[in-house]
Amino acid sequence: MHNIWAVGRNYSDHAKEFGSAVPSAAGEPMIFLKAGTCVVANGASFALPAWSTEVHFETELALQFAANPRVPGGVLVDAFTIALDLTARDAQNLAKQNGTPWTLAKSFRDSCPLGDWKPAGGVDLQNLEFSLKIDGVLKQKGCAREMIFAIPRLVQYLSERFPVAAGDILLTGTPAGVGPLHSGDRLQAQIHGHLEASWIVK
Ligand code: MG
Repeated sequence: MHNIWAVGRNYSDHAKEFGSAVPSAAGEPMIFLKAGTCVVANGASFALPAWSTEVHFETELALQFAANPRVPGGVLVDAFTIALDLTARDAQNLAKQNGTPWTLAKSFRDSCPLGDWKPAGGVDLQNLEFSLKIDGVLKQKGCAREMIFAIPRLVQYLSERFPVAAGDILLTGTPAGVGPLHSGDRLQAQIHGHLEASWIVK
C-alpha cells in the first residue's frame, strides 16, 4: 500500500472557480493526503458515500515514484496515469468553514479511481492533455502545462518535506470544470494519445 500525496489549487482557473486565492508559483504548494486504500482500479465500479450529497470529480494527472539511483533516499517520476481525486464537496466546505483538515472530504472509501500506469520515460509529462467524459459527454479537460507548480518543483518540494517512498503516488491537481457524480454515471477518462480508463458509479 502506497501513500497518495495530492496538490490542492495547482491550476489558477480551478482555484478561481471556488473563490480561493490563487497560489504564487514563488510560494509553496498545498499538499494533502489520501489513504492508499482509497484506490479504485481501472474498469471497476464504486459507490458514492451515503453521508455526502455532493461528491465531485476532479480529473488529474497522477504520477508514481521510483527510487532515484543517483540520490540516496530520493525518488523520481517513474510512471503516469489519469486519476479522479473524488471530493465530498459538502464535507470540504464545512472543513474550510471550521478550519479543520480535509481528511473526510478527500480520503473516503473509493475516493481515488486510477487508470493503468504507463512508463514515464521519454514522455513530455508537462504537456500531457487529459479529459473526462460522463455518459459520453465531455465534462472536464486540462493540460499539465497550466500547472502553477510544475512537476519538477512538486517532486523537489515533496522530497524535501515528506517521507516520499518508491511506489507512492502524486495527484498533481485539477483544472477548472469539476462537477458532481451521480449513481449510474459511466466515467471515461483519458490522457490524449497515451491511455484511457473507465469506471462506473454504482
Ligand atoms: Mg484535486
